[in-house]
Amino acid sequence: MKIKFVGTSNANPHPGRSQTCIHVEANGLGHVLDCGDGAATKLWLDGDIDWSCLRALLVTHLHPDHASGAFALLHLLHQRARENPSWGIHDREAFKLCVPDGKGAHRFTQVLGALHVDRDMLAYNLNYEYYRAGMVFTAGGLKITAYPTSHCEDAHSLCLEAEGKRIVFSGDLAEPAEITEHAGGADLLICECAHFHPRQLVPELAAMRASHYVITHMHDDLLADPEATESLFLPLTKAGKVTLAQDGLVLEL
Ligand SMILES: [Zn+2]
Repeated sequence: MKIKFVGTSNANPHPGRSQTCIHVEANGLGHVLDCGDGAATKLWLDGDIDWSCLRALLVTHLHPDHASGAFALLHLLHQRARENPSWGIHDREAFKLCVPDGKGAHRFTQVLGALHVDRDMLAYNLNYEYYRAGMVFTAGGLKITAYPTSHCEDAHSLCLEAEGKRIVFSGDLAEPAEITEHAGGADLLICECAHFHPRQLVPELAAMRASHYVITHMHDDLLADPEATESLFLPLTKAGKVTLAQDGLVLEL
């Protein structure tokens, strides 16, 4: 698997960072994990991302810094698909929009219609997956399990499996302990740090014994002082490799 951190900001704009977005290449297909403001543009301009392989957008929760770029992504994929009639998503395959089930999901799909990017308006097949806590489903080349968090209504962490590897993405959490139920032994554990201090998060993450930790979606105070932030996460390096995410970071599993 190849993982590219397209957007690593928190909900506020930061120079050089778009809002949350991760591109996961697995089994020869592309998957977008959250798509906040600015992220669709970044994906479009990224010469390394093959749009013909895009098969899914997985949204952890419906806050704008995780989901507002979805409309632009669906529209840009329409532009590219229209120019490329041989792409599989025109007929035999589809692009899957995966959103947490609930009242928000249905309002979200109504907005798709208002913005002319609903299923019957696009040059490609668009399928919806309304996922729920505990549900296991597939999208593109990934097997996905959803775990609830109490960050907001219908918020989830997602566990992605492919090619014998397991990635856990925290989404947004109400507290660090919410990531611990399902992240043990992950090959890659991607965790936000916008809603609590690293001193609360580090012990919980260390107990997970992940091979590699990536900290993203960091609080303003952490982004303002990278050296101090690095030292706050130093204790976690005893448990596994630690990387503080920046836009453009690429990892291979
Ligand atoms: Zn967020």
